[in-house]
Amino acid sequence: MTRIYPHTIVAKFGGTSVADFDAMSRSATIVLADKDVRLVVLSASAGVTNLLVELSGGQESSVRQDKIDTLRTLQYNIISHLKQPEAIGQEIDRLLDNISHLAAMSADSRSDALCDELVSHGELMSSLLFVEVLREHEVETQWFDARKVIRTNDTFGCAVPIVSEIAERVEKHLRPRIAQSLVVTQGFIGSDAAGQTTTLGRGGSDYTASLLAEALQAARVDIWTDVAGIYTTDPRIVAQAKRIDTLSFSEASEMATFGAKVLHPATLLPAMRKNIPVFVGSSAQPRAGGTLVCRDTHEPPRYRALAIRRQQTLLKLSSVDGQPAHRFLAQMFGILSRHDVAMDLVTTSEASIALILNSTGSTSGEADTLTTSLLTELSSHCHVEIETGLALVSLIGNALSQAPAMCKEVFARLESHAVRMICHGASSHNLCFLLPAESADSAVKALHRHLLE
Ligand code: ADP
Ligand code: ASP
Ligand code: MG
Repeated sequence: MTRIYPHTIVAKFGGTSVADFDAMSRSATIVLADKDVRLVVLSASAGVTNLLVELSGGQESSVRQDKIDTLRTLQYNIISHLKQPEAIGQEIDRLLDNISHLAAMSADSRSDALCDELVSHGELMSSLLFVEVLREHEVETQWFDARKVIRTNDTFGCAVPIVSEIAERVEKHLRPRIAQSLVVTQGFIGSDAAGQTTTLGRGGSDYTASLLAEALQAARVDIWTDVAGIYTTDPRIVAQAKRIDTLSFSEASEMATFGAKVLHPATLLPAMRKNIPVFVGSSAQPRAGGTLVCRDTHEPPRYRALAIRRQQTLLKLSSVDGQPAHRFLAQMFGILSRHDVAMDLVTTSEASIALILNSTGSTSGEADTLTTSLLTELSSHCHVEIETGLALVSLIGNALSQAPAMCKEVFARLESHAVRMICHGASSHNLCFLLPAESADSAVKALHRHLLE
């Protein structure tokens, strides 16, 4: 008989929540405490994706072997606690052999497709191990390959999910499984039309959870991480940061876009489309409460939070042939779009454009976005300047455009900082400015003290 679960909760556990056997056991207890949790989405154990990205970089055999040994130790530290380690040990060995083979192939000839195939092994391993941990609690659990349902385009490293196909595939392959038992799957990974493995960009497991919740029309997504909710700024930067108990989708979405790493920037898009609340809490302290992100909040404050995005690259393009501004802008955006450059903040003057590159791919950093072919084409039409070593600080709030004193309050705190670029106006939810990376933390501390404490 097919059971219907009207209140399905999708629970996602991040890297630290599945870092070792103890963390996995705590996370298993959270899953088992709520019978509505029917689908579990997992990240790779903490540190594993970084190691896999490094292995995809084409290293020498001895360096590769060291990293694979580190990966093996991480996995076996978990396996050694299991009551029945044999079968899962063989499965993990098979995946480690694959990793070794793919890393050697990358050393011969690196490609983004190969990198995605390689990094997907982190989530494959953590999800297989978590199934074993749950089974030790005598819970019927199925392992499910997320690539069966998370259909994406073939932009390896930062693939774009195809929502309609995901919905169809979830109905066909995943919903029937959920009706049978608890299901554990991987975040971050998907597949393209040719069946090749893709990834959704670093931190993408949050996005997987909300995409699956959307397709299942789930009642809630729970994001279990290493902080007890979303704070007024990264509590690692400002110890006085306070937890925000409820946040609106748009506020949280702005925070994620502008660098609050606690949520992948796209996480809230599916949740908003289907009005699915998202809870964020700590798997180490599940009773500490957390943040609920939902459509509306009661009397949202003017100033809500500060976010920081590091390693920003500013690209400045100046016209050299004196063509009218509208033609120059069209030409530049045409070139950037042909080269698939994601940018998210732009300011213009009569003869120049300054923009910030936005790069969240698994395989590429900011610098990789600026390919030789892009720079060659841009340079043949304009003067190009590139500035690195910057950080973007964003003040997130509500109706900021109606706050006459905002600029005075903000910039009075930044007197000693060299502000490189300012953006405000496209959304009334943010005011962003670019600073030298080394002064960003002190700017956030000063603004937090003045506006949010
Ligand atoms: P996970 O591996 O569980 O996905 P992440 O490291 O991706 O965890 O995200 C959690 C981290 O996000 C926290 O440890 C914290 O340092 C950081 N963070 C940044 N901004 C915020 C914020 N406003 N509130 C809470 N955490 C934040
Ligand atoms: N494991 C991936 C990463 O480290 C995805 C995630 O953790 O959400 O980026
Ligand atoms: Mg994360």
